[in-house]
Amino acid sequence: MTTAAATPLAGPPTGVLIDGHWHSGGPEAPVYDKFTRQPITVIRHARPGDATDAVTSAVRAAARPLAPARRYEILSDASRLLLDRAADVKAAYVAETGFTMADADGELARAAQTLRLSAEEAVRLAGEEVPVAAAPGSEQRLAFTIRVPVGVVGAIAPFNAPLNTVAHKIGPALAAGNAVVLKPAEQTPLSAIALTEVLHAAGLPPGYLNLICGTGEVAGAELVADPRVRFLTFTGSTAVGLLIKQRSGITKTHLELGSNSASIVAADADLDLVADLVARAGFRKAGQVCTSVQRLITEATVLDDLAERIRARVTDLKAGDPRDPSVQVGPMIAPAEAERACSWIAEAASAGATVIAGGSRDGALLEPTVLRDPAAGTRIMTSEIFAPVVSLVPARSVDAAIGLINAGRYGLQAGVFTRDIDVAFDAARRLQVGGVMINDTSSYHADAMPYGGVKDSGYGQEGPRYAVADMTDPRIIVLNLRPATKGATDQ
Ligand code: NAD
Repeated sequence: MTTAAATPLAGPPTGVLIDGHWHSGGPEAPVYDKFTRQPITVIRHARPGDATDAVTSAVRAAARPLAPARRYEILSDASRLLLDRAADVKAAYVAETGFTMADADGELARAAQTLRLSAEEAVRLAGEEVPVAAAPGSEQRLAFTIRVPVGVVGAIAPFNAPLNTVAHKIGPALAAGNAVVLKPAEQTPLSAIALTEVLHAAGLPPGYLNLICGTGEVAGAELVADPRVRFLTFTGSTAVGLLIKQRSGITKTHLELGSNSASIVAADADLDLVADLVARAGFRKAGQVCTSVQRLITEATVLDDLAERIRARVTDLKAGDPRDPSVQVGPMIAPAEAERACSWIAEAASAGATVIAGGSRDGALLEPTVLRDPAAGTRIMTSEIFAPVVSLVPARSVDAAIGLINAGRYGLQAGVFTRDIDVAFDAARRLQVGGVMINDTSSYHADAMPYGGVKDSGYGQEGPRYAVADMTDPRIIVLNLRPATKGATDQ
């Protein structure tokens, strides 16, 4: 049930929404089903100049920030409406991503939760008193900060979490009192269109959320270069993140980038727990998750045992049509990406690795694959594979495993499996990553937690509470109070 009146949007949805109007003048762009490779629908992409117009619309809206209670209502109603529309949204999501129905269930529920958490932050946003009176000569002064919306937030999203990553950007941006221009991934615009419709159906007035579907080179680059955008929140590859940092001038940024995430398995770990979790976390969304278990760095004494337990589970996983409820692994985003992953597997195999499960490909469908003993320096070890491929890597000790992770360029999240609390805490302190999951894989993520990386995995933390703080500026206000008139307090 909604409390605010729905905002009517002019025209049928096209892919470009500026100030409440769907625009249809841009180039036609088919959206493909990632399993059948057939077009599902045709949308319109942004033309040169559309991103600029979208920012102009957002600047106008940002000059009239919505009241916190209104933001709360809109975001909580949007969360409920998204669940009401779940069947349609999930059908489009499965088609445009190739992810399974289970992936769709999980991501839609999480996106609704992210919008709800964002709603709550809208009514919690507050500054703090600053004790300036402690400075000699400032005894009569009283100071406090207020949190001021930054203005216009530009949001650029990747293909692999088109509902929840987008919700993590627009939810906090709106909760903080900003207006948004959203540029979703070109492969998966339908989920972003659905979220845009849901927010307006929940009463978001025109102009506060503008959508520019299109390519990174046209729509994305124009958005990044616009100095009226005060905050850019980007999730995607490290290569594009670097470009955005170079081109965004002094605009504040969050860069949520790639990783070749690792989990450590100590000899005392519960190996069945490891195998059960890895068989899910390494292969959901066909491994196209930034925290996916790419490397399982295992104390050598238990490697054979763990390899057998994982092999048994992974060979049971079924790859195929993501609409088939018995399928756990759908296609990758494009045949070329699956081909690239296969070439990395072949490179590792020719350098001495053993493929103990999967390894073959049919178009975009790559069998869930497990490798053992990849050589240091092969791409499967050093770069992000972003595919349903897990590598078992032997290590002399947990200490050596920590060294191996810290020697790499990425630092998003890591997992540590051990029954020894001292080992777990030592690893948590020393691993150079944004988050350490004890007795869980690198892939654990709850939407309320601070989430972000270090090193080449970027910087800035998502999670509505943390993102809302960054999407506002603290403004200090100082009152120079006059001493009370002598005698006034004696009466
Ligand atoms: P990508 O970098 O290719 O594209 C991401 C977005 O950037 C897309 O919307 C794209 O159109 C846009 N873009 C491309 N060139 C641009 C330019 N010059 N200017 C502005 N925008 C531009 O990434 P992808 O393939 O969609 O997603 C996969 C990557 O995202 C992986 O590296 C993955 O690890 C990363 N990722 C990271 C996280 C995280 O939280 N750290 C989460 C999900 C995905």
